[in-house]
Amino acid sequence: MVAAKAVAAVPRPDLLERLAVQTAERAQAQLQRHLRTITHAEGPWVESNGQRLLAFCSNDYLGLAQHPQLIAALKHAADAHGVGSGSAHLICGHHREHAVLEEALAEWTGRERALLFSTGYMANLGVMQALLQRDELCVQDKLNHACLLDGAQLAGATLKRYPHADADAARRQLRSHAESRALLATDGVFSMDGDIAPLRELAELCADEGATLMVDDAHGLGVLGSEGAGSITEAGLSERDVPILMATLGKALGCSGAFVAGSAALIDGLTQFARTYIYTTAMPPALAAAARCAVALARRENWRREKLAHAIQRFRHGATQLGLPLMPSRTAIQPLLLGDAQHALEVSRGLETQGLLAIAIRPPTVPQGQARLRITLSALHEEEHVDRLLQALASLQLAQAPV
Ligand SMILES: *Cc1c(COP(=O)(O)O)cnc(C)c1O
Repeated sequence: MVAAKAVAAVPRPDLLERLAVQTAERAQAQLQRHLRTITHAEGPWVESNGQRLLAFCSNDYLGLAQHPQLIAALKHAADAHGVGSGSAHLICGHHREHAVLEEALAEWTGRERALLFSTGYMANLGVMQALLQRDELCVQDKLNHACLLDGAQLAGATLKRYPHADADAARRQLRSHAESRALLATDGVFSMDGDIAPLRELAELCADEGATLMVDDAHGLGVLGSEGAGSITEAGLSERDVPILMATLGKALGCSGAFVAGSAALIDGLTQFARTYIYTTAMPPALAAAARCAVALARRENWRREKLAHAIQRFRHGATQLGLPLMPSRTAIQPLLLGDAQHALEVSRGLETQGLLAIAIRPPTVPQGQARLRITLSALHEEEHVDRLLQALASLQLAQAPV
């Protein structure tokens, strides 16, 4: 039989063509994103396009990414075990380096167990997909990280987003679906704003309403709380109040990867059902070895948090004197709210001509009209670095700039 060759009445629309149109539209709106290639990194300095720039955009808050002990741990483990893990955790990719890192992370965060994921993005997708079934309720802060929102969508959950940090609104959303199993998920420290979620209120609310609380502490771990154990510890909360903690190894810990920590029952369940854990290659054992070294340094070397706090304080003091549009943040994320996307881009370029790198964050990453310069500080920054940033910002006369 010869297959019928029907002639379509209307030509099928093309996928790649539409993508190209969308890309062109974004360029037209001057909102396209550009890759920057870094040719060298050293402390707070990066080299790009042959220019040496003082960077205020890395999430390496404790300055561990280039620590000689981490590098040595990575090299040592690579010599012993090679580069790749070889397979997924549940096949034969789960190495002793992973197991001891999980134990160290659980102990640090005061939880029964921890489970490694290859990235934070995958950890959040995996948790949501394992816990939530179709049409079950997922309540989230409007400013949560994109991957928490994506996770709820992937699970097919009913996603309700409450106004930023508004626990009363979250309560109303939970009450409006009182019969459904419910997860409330929030960033601990908000990645584009730097402020901290009202964790105590949210924990109380979840206890009242029988919902499960999940905190993504990507920007809190290492930075907040005793020994840097994170925003949950700082808020005086425990595993009972916040049963699900997710955090990454790629920010203050200076490595890459992520983990979920909680009860043994949670971890056993994720091991069985979190697809982004099961169907992916385990992180390189050498990376796990480096991360374990980072955990030890992050816990022990309080001076890193103190130095970071000093840089934050110096920056905020100087920026206030200059009348710069600071946001209410006490963390390493210190954005300047500039409003207009083009203006934010111009400020970023203005800094670059003075040898400083800070990135303009524009819609759709942040809401329309809330473009900003996302400045991040680190234990790598000396007073003179912060002062240099302040001088450059002063020269751009931001305080008087039109918004
Ligand atoms: C960076 C980040 C993630 C994603 O982590 P990766 O390991 O980079 O995939 C998740 N949540 C928050 C709040 C983040 O800032």
